[in-house]
Parts: sequence; C-alpha cells; structure tokens
Amino acid sequence: MTIPATARARRDELVVHIERARTAYYQHDKPEISDAEYDALFNELTQLENKYPELVTADSPTQSVGGEVGETFGEFTHPSKMWSLDNVFSEEELRAWLTRVGDHEFLCELKIDGLAINAVYRNGELETLATRGSGAVGENVISNVSYMTCVPQKLKPIKGQAFPELLEVRGEVYFSLADFDLINLEVTAVGRTAFANPRNAAAGTLRQRMDKRVESLATSKTDSSREKRDEELTRAGNALGRLGLIVHGIGVHEGLDLKAQSHAYELLRQWGLPTSSRVRVVKSVQGVLDYIEEFGRLRHELEHDIDGVVVKVDSLDEQRELGFTARAPRWAIAYKYPPTVVRTKLIDIAVQVGRTGRVTPRASVEPVMVAGSTVSYATLHNPFEVARKGVRIGDMVFLRKAGDVIPEILGPVVELRDGSEREFIMPTHCPECGSSLAPEKESDADIRCPNTRSCPAQLRGRLEHLGSRAVLDIEGLGEKAARALLEDKVIDDEGDLFSLTADQLATSDFFVKGASRELAENAKLLLTQLEIAKSKPLWRVISALSMRHVGPPTAQAIARAFPDMSALRVATESELATVEGIGQTIAASIVEWFAEPWHCAVVDKWAKAGVRMVDEIVDAGPQILAGLTVVVTGTLEGFSREGASEAITSRGGKAASSVSKNTDFVVVGPGAGSKAAKAEELGRPILDEAGFVVLLEQGPQAAHAYLDK
Ligand SMILES: [Zn+2]
Repeated sequence: MTIPATARARRDELVVHIERARTAYYQHDKPEISDAEYDALFNELTQLENKYPELVTADSPTQSVGGEVGETFGEFTHPSKMWSLDNVFSEEELRAWLTRVGDHEFLCELKIDGLAINAVYRNGELETLATRGSGAVGENVISNVSYMTCVPQKLKPIKGQAFPELLEVRGEVYFSLADFDLINLEVTAVGRTAFANPRNAAAGTLRQRMDKRVESLATSKTDSSREKRDEELTRAGNALGRLGLIVHGIGVHEGLDLKAQSHAYELLRQWGLPTSSRVRVVKSVQGVLDYIEEFGRLRHELEHDIDGVVVKVDSLDEQRELGFTARAPRWAIAYKYPPTVVRTKLIDIAVQVGRTGRVTPRASVEPVMVAGSTVSYATLHNPFEVARKGVRIGDMVFLRKAGDVIPEILGPVVELRDGSEREFIMPTHCPECGSSLAPEKESDADIRCPNTRSCPAQLRGRLEHLGSRAVLDIEGLGEKAARALLEDKVIDDEGDLFSLTADQLATSDFFVKGASRELAENAKLLLTQLEIAKSKPLWRVISALSMRHVGPPTAQAIARAFPDMSALRVATESELATVEGIGQTIAASIVEWFAEPWHCAVVDKWAKAGVRMVDEIVDAGPQILAGLTVVVTGTLEGFSREGASEAITSRGGKAASSVSKNTDFVVVGPGAGSKAAKAEELGRPILDEAGFVVLLEQGPQAAHAYLDK
C-alpha cells in the first residue's frame, strides 16, 4: 500500500508534538498540554500507524514508554522492565480488549494519578527506590527515602516464610487531593507554575536532591541564606513526608512461587506494604464493567485523584500466555475516565456578588469540554486566591472540574506567557449597587458588599437559593424568574414572596403571554409551587432565610432542637451553641441574624402568608439498632445506598463503610467485592437483602435467628 504524503507529514508532526510534550512532562514535571490533549495526539498516531504499519519505526513514541531520565539523579537499570499500559477510552474499546483476551478472572484496581516507582528489596530490606523513567532505566531516588514515611525500609516477616532474595515492588506514589492543594499553594506563593495534577506534584516533589540541599545548607555563608535554605529544606522534607504509596505489582521475585496477581497483592500486604482496599477480583466482563461504573460514580469522593481503572488478567500463567507487545503487556489495560483537568485560555476575570454579599472573582475561559460538560466559567474563590495562584488575564491555565462542584483554576502555565497578559485588579465598588466593598472584619479573606437588604445581586441570590432543590425546591423560581420579580418590582424582597398574587405577577412581562397579558404557564407553576412550599418542614424554611453558615444540614440540626420559629427567635447564643451540630460561630450568626429588624419582618410576613413556623414532632420510631454497626456492600434491589444507610441510622444504628471486627452485620448484595471477603475472613455475620429487612423490622436477635435457619 502506498502511504499518502499527507499521512507521512502528519505522522512526523505528531511525533514532534508528542516528544515535546513528553520532555516537558517527564523532564521538567511541567506539562504544556493537558493529559487529554496528549492522549488525543497519541491516539491519532496509533491509529495512523495501525492504518499504515510501514510508518512504524523503532523510535516511534508508540514503541516506547516515554520519560527518559533527567540529569539530577543517578541512573538505575530496573532488574526487569517497567511496562506502560495501553489505554482505552470507551466501553466499546474496553469490550474489544476483553473479547481479545478471552475468558479470565480479572483483577480491577484504581489508576491513581501518581508517579510510578520501583522499590527493590533484598532479603526484606529496601535497597533501591527508583522512578520508572524510560521503563528500562529510571532515576535512583533512594537518597530521599529517609524523608518518606510511605515506603517501608524493612518488610514485615511472614511466619514460616523467608524473604525473597530479590523482590521488585511496583507502586504509585501520590498526593491526596488535600495535600495536592497545599503543595500548589506553596508553589504558586513563590511565583512558580502550579502543578497541573497530583502526578506532576508527586514527580516534582520526589525528584528533589535532598542530599544536595543538605550539602548547600552546610556550606551557606551568611545567616540569611542559611535560614532561607533551611526553610526550603524543611518544606521539601515535609512535602516528601506527605507522599502516599499504593503498591500494585511485582517484578523480579526470586524464591517466590506466585499463582496470581491477587496472590502477589496479598503477600505485599502481609509484608507491610500499602495495598489498596479497593482492589477487586471479578469473574466476568460484567464484573469489570460494574467496577468501572461504580468508581466512575465515586471518583470525586475519593481522597486522591484517579484517572481510570486498571484491569489485569489475574492468573500469572494466563498472563504469561498472553505476553507483551513492544510497549505494553497484552494482559492488562487502563480504562481512562474523561479527564478532569484541561488547559484553556483565561479570557477575563469579573466579580460576582453572592447571596451573602461575598464578592468572588469569576474567570471566564475559552469554552472547553471537561468531565463531560462544556465549561466557560471557573471560580477563583477570593481576590487573594487570584494573587496566590498568580494568574493573569490572558494566561493559559489549567482548569479542574471534579463532580458537581464549580470548576476551578489550578494555576497558570507561566512558560507560555507572551507579555500581553495583565494583572487582575479587584474593583472597589459593588458592580450591581455601587456600595463600597470591604471585608467585614479586618482578618477576613472575603470581601463583601455591605448592602445586604437591597443589593440586587444579593436579593437575586437569596431568591434563587430559596427556590433551589436543597432548600424549598420551588420549581419556577430560578435565576430568570428571580431577576424578573425584582427588576419588574413585583416584590421588594423575599418577604413578599409567599403572598404573591396572580394580579401582581401579571404586571411583569416575564409572567404573561405576549400582548394578551394572560398569565403564562410559568406564573401558574410558580404560584402552585409557592403554595406547596409553605407546608414544607421547618428546616427548609430556616434554610431559606440565608443565614450565614446555615446550610441544609445545620438547618436540620436547628429544627430538631428548636421545632418552633418563635423559640428559635429568642434563643440565646449559649443555648444555641450547646446544640449538637451548631458551634459558637453558627450560634453567633443566628443571633446576629435575628437582631436585624428587616430580617424579622421577612419571617413575620412569611408567617402571615401561611409558611410553616412549627414542626410537628415526629416519632423517630423504635431505636432497635442502637449500638450496632452495619455495613452494606454490593447492590440491593429495594434500597439505594443512601436509603440503606438512612434505614440503619434512623433506627439508631451506625452505617459504616468498612468492615472490621467491630462490625455487627454485613449486608451483601450482588456485585459486592472485598468487603464481603473481609467479612468472611473476620467471621462477621453476613445477611442477604431479605435478612437485612428482618434486621430492620425485628432487630438483631431476629436477624441472627434468620441466619441460623
Ligand atoms: Zn451590592
């Protein structure tokens, strides 16, 4: 087959781009393009080479792992090669791989966004710690290991078993998301580019020559330079100490007879190495898909970032049969979730005024797809954050969107600046009402518009909040309706809301049908929904008042302790502070709120309009699970995960997420993984769904009787 010149040219172009990205990424720990862009380039090259196999050369990026060694550490040739994994990006591609490898038991594990390392143990003692590098040769970072708490220097002996003479342990060092944010704040505080993801932060942290730093400290000539170096050394040491490790493989293992990947993990765990509790061996394709679906849902609740799931054929014999391609094993695949970090251009920063008057800079960015939706705006939290992150208008930035939270800017790509970027200047006056902006207290990081009563932005924000699902759930009261109600002067503030009439609504163009001035559907919907909202539980009403620090969970705690608004109104700070779920800050905020006459007027108007002000006391039901800890795992037909938890807690029990010897019952549904195994291992009573219902309805004794049957 003749290869078109355009294909050849595109191939060359792709190789240049990929190599450049790899250099920036691996050598400098500073990516210039996002993971998703890299994956797209790599994918395009792979497809091109698949179509025209003659284009494949030995030095093609598809034939190597990437990540040649840097200059700072000594080289280390891994006793056995550290492979890279092939990626798939869709269920379809994954199914194609599963079909290709055939029937097996599969081990599924999370692909942590960290840095691959190889730890070599000789007779149980750590000899070398190295980065993956090119896969054949990495960097020996053993001199840093004394600062790292996550890598054991000695393995724990297993009874009746000698340590393997030589053991290579593969794993991932990583930062938790909390530590990643911390590290980025430190980095940007000194004017450097933020790390794009936890993996780069881990790489940047691990690849610091601590021994050189100690040396330079000893030779510093002046007190001030010594102090500065000492500070830097401490910071670097602390950062290394915050690294975590999860091990996920074994290379050379002399004197060990291993049957399966999962068997290896069990040994690693017993030797005291950190393995993941989320590893699961599944017997079917459906099991693999379920695992991927489950963690796709949970990924934003984990303590660390993951970018996918790794699926491995569990049996080592079967692994050997399948073998390797030039760059990756055939018996493993990485399924990648849609990326959560992308690179885009920061077009402008404007300020927004929230419902509590808080002024936040909001970045508008070039629209970009991230985690399944198009993002055009991102938050920068407060003006200090803009300065701390060092972002300028016009910068290329890394942006992260995790779950349902508002996308945030991680930091600029300083290397790509061309001089046209400009600093953001915080306005001194409210863009909506012209009031002078200031922090409420000198120590506050937040700047506020003090015009709480009539600043249009705050009023609008409060109305929208009140209508939202988590509060009074008033369909028809969204951003547009709130704006129309205020701009057309249908209401002065939220106090007038529940006494709204059809005639009043008809004065606003937004709520009528064109020239006929007949009431539109949205107006009828709003009136019905307002009527329904009036009888919703008191905690929702409290939540709707937009007191500072009082979100729905706090409002629930308040309503439990004060099921009557008139009692809450006169409650003192000390009375409030003793309630569980309310602290000093919230107590003060509530008292302060009721001290404002126009706030009380709002409550009075609502009461007059028939909004609920007193909760009937509902009997919580017999607490038949008091003192019991119950774990639910797998899927149940009659209960959602939350529903099962609620059923336990409403009966006085504790719904726990992990199994221990203190677990009283483990409820196991289809698709349950390691927790079920753990329960068996610890001999905890295991109930099926029917047994769970018995437990909920008749208590622990009946559940034990059910098990004995
Ligand atoms: Zn204002």
